[in-house]
Amino acid sequence: MAHILISGAGVAGPALALLLVRAGHQVSLIERASGLRLGGQAVDLRGAGRTVVEAMGLMPAVRALALRQRGMSWVDARGRARARMGVDAFAGEGFISEIEILRGDLAQIMYDATRQAVQYEFGNSVVELRQDDQGVDVAFESGPRRRFDLVVGADGLASTTRRLEFGEGGMRSLGCLIAWFTAPDPGDLDGWYEMYLARGGRNASLRPGRLPGEAKAALGLRIAPGTAFPSGRDEQRSLLRSRFAGLGWRVPELLSAAESADDFAFAEIGQVHLPSWSRGRVVLLGDAAASPSPLTGLGTSVALVQAYVLAGELAAAGGDHRRAFARYEQVCRPYVDRAQEMPPGGAAGFAPMSEAMIRLQTLSMRLATRWPMRPMLQKQFGKAADVVLPDYDLVATARRSVPPAGPVGR
Ligand SMILES: Cc1cc2nc3c(=O)[nH]c(=O)nc-3n(C[C@H](O)[C@H](O)[C@H](O)COP(=O)(O)OP(=O)(O)OC[C@H]3O[C@@H](n4cnc5c(N)ncnc54)[C@H](O)[C@@H]3O)c2cc1C
Repeated sequence: MAHILISGAGVAGPALALLLVRAGHQVSLIERASGLRLGGQAVDLRGAGRTVVEAMGLMPAVRALALRQRGMSWVDARGRARARMGVDAFAGEGFISEIEILRGDLAQIMYDATRQAVQYEFGNSVVELRQDDQGVDVAFESGPRRRFDLVVGADGLASTTRRLEFGEGGMRSLGCLIAWFTAPDPGDLDGWYEMYLARGGRNASLRPGRLPGEAKAALGLRIAPGTAFPSGRDEQRSLLRSRFAGLGWRVPELLSAAESADDFAFAEIGQVHLPSWSRGRVVLLGDAAASPSPLTGLGTSVALVQAYVLAGELAAAGGDHRRAFARYEQVCRPYVDRAQEMPPGGAAGFAPMSEAMIRLQTLSMRLATRWPMRPMLQKQFGKAADVVLPDYDLVATARRSVPPAGPVGR
């Protein structure tokens, strides 16, 4: 059995780790942040992503923490609902899907399910990978070099593993930035995920949290693709203050919450397109390999499906990583390609520039369940289930208990 290093303790990394230890591998997981990053709004568990969570045996834990929501509401500057889509639209697979969970809760569930069996190391990063026929020598920001049989890059959109092994390309900016953070619950959301679109490509939203007193906010804005954006927290907050200045709805309260939120996360919105997800003994997973972007609502489902197939193919190939990586890609590619097709409107629909486009976007959401919007959206939402998951033995043993963690490196 192999000793496998995973870089990134988001959703994809721990999900893969769980399935790998169940198949008998030894797994070390390194995360650059000093602890789990529990930020983010909600992520949808749709279609095949949901099937994977069930196969992992984690659905009861997910259901226990799932959000109770009524749907999505597009509001104007005075907070009046201009269009609404209930949670039951599109058979529970619409903009708000039947099972949504805070991203932080899902990351915590995955971590709790693996912490005994996986060697976690926080506050460290891979800085060099050197592979030969037998393994990969890995140098870290801190600590000695170590050797592993395989390395998995699950380190997100701006993956270090991808840069080290595949070079700088791969990421395609969609010309949007987004900040996610916790804000005080205003007390009158009444289960609705409210979204306010403002001229100049600005999108502000607030949705119910899980804990009393908490709601989850996001501020998104358009930029010219390829424009440099600040990496420091203070500069990021200052950019939000200047771009969202003077707006109505709940924007002043959100800007003030962004100043103090300890889970403030700021990212470019982009997709990752690579001709291959592996090189030798290094393989990519989740956003690092093929982010479809938060605009598709499919990032987490893609990551879970990839984790399931990668672990399953490694088990099926009996140690032949070349065969496993080729099959991993063969099974997942068509699903990922469809997931990466943008929803109607794309970035312009997420944060329209003009008042006329905002009105058009709101109107199309009001008519979402009628022709011609219905078939277009149905196609988008239907992609989540658009993969036939192989039935790996691994799944049959999914409820097996996991062995305790082994030593780091070999
Ligand atoms: C804080 C945060 C909030 C998010 N909120 C949302 C949201 O509200 N809605 C949505 O649709 N998507 C959100 N996403 C993206 C979403 O989590 C992913 O699209 C999806 O779940 C696939 O997950 P992933 O594990 O591939 O990537 P991610 O969830 O991005 O996880 C990647 C992990 O790798 C770590 N990492 C990065 N660089 C290194 C390195 N050099 N070494 C080690 N570790 C590294 C990161 O700190 C992170 O923990 C968020 C991501 C993050 C990090």
